[in-house]
Amino acid sequence: MTKYHPLSEEQAIEYARQIPDLFQSRAELSSREIGDGNLNLVFHISEPSTGKSIILKQALPYAKVVGESWPLTLDRARIESEALQIEESLCPDLVPHVYAYEPDLALTVMEDLSDHVIMRRGLIERNQYPLFAEHIARFLAHTLFFTSDLGKNQQEKKVQLGRFINPELCKITEDLIFDDPYRDADTNSIEAHIRDAAEQIWKDTELHLEVAILRNKFLTSAQALLHGDLHTGSIFIKAYSTKVIDPEFAYYGPMGFDIGAVLANLLLNFAGQEGWSTDEASRADYREYLLHTVKDVWNNFERNFRQLWNEHGVDRVFQTPGYQDYFIASLLQDTFGFTGAKMVRRVYGLAHVADIDKIEDASARERAQRLALSIGTKLIRFNRQAKSIDELIQLVTKET
Ligand code: ADP
Ligand code: MG
Ligand code: MG
Ligand code: MG
Repeated sequence: MTKYHPLSEEQAIEYARQIPDLFQSRAELSSREIGDGNLNLVFHISEPSTGKSIILKQALPYAKVVGESWPLTLDRARIESEALQIEESLCPDLVPHVYAYEPDLALTVMEDLSDHVIMRRGLIERNQYPLFAEHIARFLAHTLFFTSDLGKNQQEKKVQLGRFINPELCKITEDLIFDDPYRDADTNSIEAHIRDAAEQIWKDTELHLEVAILRNKFLTSAQALLHGDLHTGSIFIKAYSTKVIDPEFAYYGPMGFDIGAVLANLLLNFAGQEGWSTDEASRADYREYLLHTVKDVWNNFERNFRQLWNEHGVDRVFQTPGYQDYFIASLLQDTFGFTGAKMVRRVYGLAHVADIDKIEDASARERAQRLALSIGTKLIRFNRQAKSIDELIQLVTKET
């Protein structure tokens, strides 16, 4: 047994050297720590003579946020490695392969995806990814369907649910998404020029009711095994390939939360286009691409999910005529609501997104922030009336 300690670059190399059948026994290996160091260490280990490489991701026992540190369970490394392996069994081409998990060190050994780029960066560079919608929709449909009571043996689902009790990471979401942005909380990080917009939101009791309803779903609706943190920083991408990483927030929750995370991050980049393209025509072009992608993600998801249900449904009662339509209709509504909630917190909550924060021109940044807040709050307010994805597109188009 190895006692837990954060690895140094040299220790990471020593660890990697002992993995069977990977590197040559006496090869020169190099190691670089490439994570941001806030929650986890990420080591890139390579053997220059053969070009072989792997990633070691190690959880740290604390999270450093805004200067303070708070303890954070190492069990999230187990949750991440198990979730990755379940995802791999359902859509092998869409996640990194896990070679090994070392519980004592809270360490996952996985495939190196350095030939991809983090999608948030790709979107900020205004690249287009024509296969993304199909890929992520397939990821969502397969992972959500086959871990739910629709597609998984229901006794086995209950057992699996027990392996994904993730209270500390869920609490982060409960606080930072479904509580703090709606009051004057210390964790908020509000630029002075949009304080008035935040104060408006703190007074908006109709909005608060919708947030309470969404919060309750996040707390109680154990529909499927979620990724739990599916923003564009958790997606690696290149022209023909999409890979989802970093499921340490995985738990059994409402399906619309994962779908909403994807749509919200596309829309945050949409809002950020204020700062990334000064040419109006090319801005309009890229925004149109993003909106198409939003629509394609939902439509592909719905088609995929219905097909899985028709072909692999495990529950006779759930084949009752009308039930599938009822289920999809309420999932669309949840998706509207969670998309909105995910947007609002990224503008002035604890953690922002580079798509907006990195806009240097303060007035362009402010326009992007207000646009994101306006779209986000409207989606939250409207969520329980939503009937089609076209309404989301219209709602966003009207704002610009
Ligand atoms: P955290 O949970 O700390 O956010 P991530 O899993 O998102 O950790 O990884 C942080 C960064 O490390 C990523 O943004 C990426 O740059 C790099 N990284 C993580 N996993 C891989 C991988 N499999 N291949 C290459 N780089 C990776
Ligand atoms: Mg990070
Ligand atoms: Mg991450
Ligand atoms: Mg993470």
